[in-house]
Amino acid sequence: MNKNTNNETNKITSQKENFSQWYLDVIREADLAENSPVRGSMIIKPYGYALWEKIQKILDIEFKKRGTQNAYFPLLIPKSFLEKESEHVEGFAKECAIVTHHRLEKKDGKLVPAGELEEPFVVRPTSETIIYDVISKWINSYRDLPLIINQWCNVMRWEMRPRLFLRTTEFLWQEGHTAHATKKEADEKTLEMLEVYKKFVEEYMAISVVKGKKTEIEKFPGAEYTSTIEAMMQDRKALQSGTSHMLGQNFAKSFKVSFLDEKQEKQYVWQTSWGLSTRIIGALIMSHSDDKGLVLPPKIAPLQIVIIPIWGNKEEKKVVFDEIEKIKAELETSQVTYKVDEREGRPGFKYFEWERKGVPLRIEIGPKDVQKKSVVIVERVSGKKEFVSNNEISSCVQQSLERIQKTLLENSRKFRLENTREVFDYEEFKKIMSEKEGFIFAHLCLDKNCEEKIKEETNASTRCIPFEDGLDNAGKCIYCRKDALNKVLFAKAY
Ligand SMILES: [Zn+2]
Repeated sequence: MNKNTNNETNKITSQKENFSQWYLDVIREADLAENSPVRGSMIIKPYGYALWEKIQKILDIEFKKRGTQNAYFPLLIPKSFLEKESEHVEGFAKECAIVTHHRLEKKDGKLVPAGELEEPFVVRPTSETIIYDVISKWINSYRDLPLIINQWCNVMRWEMRPRLFLRTTEFLWQEGHTAHATKKEADEKTLEMLEVYKKFVEEYMAISVVKGKKTEIEKFPGAEYTSTIEAMMQDRKALQSGTSHMLGQNFAKSFKVSFLDEKQEKQYVWQTSWGLSTRIIGALIMSHSDDKGLVLPPKIAPLQIVIIPIWGNKEEKKVVFDEIEKIKAELETSQVTYKVDEREGRPGFKYFEWERKGVPLRIEIGPKDVQKKSVVIVERVSGKKEFVSNNEISSCVQQSLERIQKTLLENSRKFRLENTREVFDYEEFKKIMSEKEGFIFAHLCLDKNCEEKIKEETNASTRCIPFEDGLDNAGKCIYCRKDALNKVLFAKAY
């Protein structure tokens, strides 16, 4: 049975055979991450971290365009802070890591925790409480608003069933926090940042998403409402890919974040928070990759082109490498990222390795190609081979990269739509969820009980109440047949 355990390398289980094993195999073979000695915490390897750095770079520019400033807040949060907002503490209590001691002492030859703290600290599962305590001192007047802060950091949520990138006890993310004078501004900010995520995920990661609002059960603990983007993975399960929360004045009242308005009257601020984490790398893997390994959209690939020289002897090597210098000079004039794999060894081995790492394009060049003044360009996704003459390389690779980027997004969108159904009958709902899975649009009343029962009986949770209209919204609840105002998106989810 367990033939593909980690000790057997070089083998990627097929997606069809076992999707979750395939996922882990791709991560291992593409050299993205590995498990650490601390269960649930992962080591992000250089190639995986290069992906995260690209994500950071692109998003950070978008945030700053919208007036965001980066800052850094402490890892440890006084336990009492979490207790100030009751919904919030309830939502996170079950997954908190707590620091209770501040040194180790030797006792009977063993090191034991000592110096118990008067008040324990919680390792941040998210930073609303500590940030809002601090900004309550920063904000005094309406002139201090809006306040738009972001931090790139790690957070910790204790995971009982960890999975690389998707659920790790410690993960990396950014968390944006804003304070506004009016509800209208906060509402707008919530949706503005959701749109930033949507654009990023679609344009760069080539993953098509549904934008909507979470139900009361699924919203962020302490928020007035949560908006989300939901993507479909190749196993037809959903993955929440970014969330933006309208916090209303809930936290402002608990943490006394207030200001004097123009009439010198005291008002509480309206707040938002929004985050995107390393989970998105899991989404990236599960959206595009195949049985040969990772597939990366060109706009997010740390490396877009790998050049593989082919030579038999010293003379050939010189001829080929001289030609590569010219190709490099040409590529320098375009915006592409490339690398020449100069290592000794069989080209076939190199093809295999870069294929697994999902580099979108490969340029092969041997002595015969030099004579013909051309190269071979191979696309990672389609495997398509093309002979391209030397003076056309630069324009050819740019066109190919653009086309691949577009095709991946189109495929993602097509796949999602093909596996999305509108369902009006609960028996049919159950049948689809147990056989075909995918996304289902169905009417749901506001009774939490219906939502919970559906989850219990089918494993499908509500993903969002989609913003996109065009669906006939009023109808009968799929579960209780009472009137329902909303059509809701259901799916099994990561
Ligand atoms: Zn109902």
